[in-house]
Amino acid sequence: MKLSQRISSVPPSATIAITMRAKELLSSGVDVVSFGAGEPDFDTPQFIKDATVKALQSGDTKYGPKSAMALKEAIAAKLQRDNNLSCQANQVVVTIGAKHAIELLCQVLLDPGDKVLVPSPYWVSYPEMIKLAGGETVILPATRDSGFKITPDQIRDNSEGAKALILNSPCNPTGVTYTPEELAEIARAVLETDLIVISDEIYEKLIYGDTRFVSFAALDPRLPERTITVNGLSKSFAMTGWRLGWLAGPADVVDGVRRLMSHQTTNPVSFAQAGALAAYTDPQAGEIIEQMRLEFEKRGLHMAQRLGAIDGVECVEPTGAFYVFPDVSAHYGRTLGGVEITGSMDLAKVALESSNVAVVPGAPFGEDKCIRLSFATSMDQIDKGLDRLAELMG
Ligand code: PMP
Ligand code: GLU
Repeated sequence: MKLSQRISSVPPSATIAITMRAKELLSSGVDVVSFGAGEPDFDTPQFIKDATVKALQSGDTKYGPKSAMALKEAIAAKLQRDNNLSCQANQVVVTIGAKHAIELLCQVLLDPGDKVLVPSPYWVSYPEMIKLAGGETVILPATRDSGFKITPDQIRDNSEGAKALILNSPCNPTGVTYTPEELAEIARAVLETDLIVISDEIYEKLIYGDTRFVSFAALDPRLPERTITVNGLSKSFAMTGWRLGWLAGPADVVDGVRRLMSHQTTNPVSFAQAGALAAYTDPQAGEIIEQMRLEFEKRGLHMAQRLGAIDGVECVEPTGAFYVFPDVSAHYGRTLGGVEITGSMDLAKVALESSNVAVVPGAPFGEDKCIRLSFATSMDQIDKGLDRLAELMG
């Protein structure tokens, strides 16, 4: 059948493809170590499951779930408490994952040809979502030498004629978090322009070392009127399968998002929202999140150190999220596992096929010199996978 031009030019998500392939191999009995998945290996905390089951049992099974307003209020309270951001519950929209929130925003904000500034390396789905909305991605390159961070001048130099900027700190795929001072400099540059900012803060709770998280919109009182904050439960609460995210922003944007969603998906799963309400209101949450964060921090440092010890691998220590993004380009041109390695796609393919280690190639994130490894897996798996990679690339 002839598909639309719109969808014909969209490749599958590389992160989802690798994650699914690794899960498939595992379930068919292959001993694969997966560094592919961008999802916590922890289970969803029990108190969240309990609240959900209770809602389901008590008949919270209709459109516009019983907890809808309470959840929006809880998110507004969370923004005040954690992020120093004042916002009304009616400025919040609960979506089917943060991915859906960003997709909705692209559809609501962009007209054909509108330019969106995207720092690179970037999360694979941003350029595709921009393209699907008819927009155009303008890459702001950041290299390993600049710590994978853009400078405020890159915003100044590229803002003319651009409509929006997508920020993602902590960053997928680099594992890099901007300091509050660096973000304040970026905010200053943004305020010299007319740019709207989509601040993807999904990794907010996963911050390491002495790095501190700040919400972009909280950096200046003029920012909330031009910033949409995106966040969700997938990463902070180990709830990837629940598909729950949200956005908070100016009333006109929220109104547009609501109108679109009313024709598109209506609302996220009713009873799952009762679980989200528990996640944002139950006092147990803080301690549980902190336990997961501490564990990720240990694993991330260990993984970065072990990767850095492999010849020809350069790895920046992660300051956030659960990814490292080592430069492996010194191996390009070599033959590994019987294959001549010309770039990150080849390396990821050989790692999976000849060493049973799933990693995501850097190319779909905009940086072919690198590969992405997720450390959202156990220390034993990390050591096992890195032994295999060290042998492959040694
Ligand atoms: N933003 C970034 C940077 C991500 O890595 C992800 C991956 N899950 C998302 C948004 C979407 O998350 P979800 O849809 O699971 O909330
Ligand atoms: N965001 C995660 C990742 O990058 C999960 C997969 C996805 O949503 O793309 O691996």
